[in-house]
Amino acid sequence: MDMNRAKEVQRAVCETSRKMYDSGLVAGTWGNIAARIDKDYMVVTPSGMKYEILNPDDMVIMNMHTYERDPDSRKPSIEFYMHAQLLLEHPDMNAVVHTHSTYALIMATARKPIPPVCDDQVQILGGAIPVAEYAMPGTPEMGAAVAAAMKEGNGVLVPNHGAVTIGRNLDEALLAAVLLEKTAQVYIGTMAVGGPVELDPADIAAMRDYFLNKYGQR
Ligand SMILES: [Zn+2]
Repeated sequence: MDMNRAKEVQRAVCETSRKMYDSGLVAGTWGNIAARIDKDYMVVTPSGMKYEILNPDDMVIMNMHTYERDPDSRKPSIEFYMHAQLLLEHPDMNAVVHTHSTYALIMATARKPIPPVCDDQVQILGGAIPVAEYAMPGTPEMGAAVAAAMKEGNGVLVPNHGAVTIGRNLDEALLAAVLLEKTAQVYIGTMAVGGPVELDPADIAAMRDYFLNKYGQR
């Protein structure tokens, strides 16, 4: 493992965890983040530490296949199985964000998927947001259930628990988490005024392609 690269990823994950905290998507010490170092290793946020006091060195370097880590490192988030599985199954994705944000949790607790209803949702999240099968938090089974539900799109609702998003980089995974929460809020809001009008599949495909391949500065 390239230690300079590992330190760079530790700094980036630490910075993103502060941004996630400032975004209001997480309360207390809940929520966690991971990012890929290389094909074997990831950095994952530590378990149960306050976001305000986190330093890059607190971010845990872990083998995604064996879950081995330096015994002197912090204890990793209990959701490390899920982070490792998502990164291993999505080699083009390099970051995972997990939150218990309120509106996403309402949908996750109702165990109802969010249909494709907003332009920014389908660009960044890829379409409808499915609900994974239920499994206990912090288990390999929950990791497998979330990974099974994460197909074309970048977001999944975790039943009675929260939401998980992935991205090509940390900023994109965090943006997906912010948008998933906003979409859940909009969807629930539209139910008070007769329900949403869903987007057309051809429009969804065109918007998704634009975001993945043409959006932004090159
Ligand atoms: Zn959680």
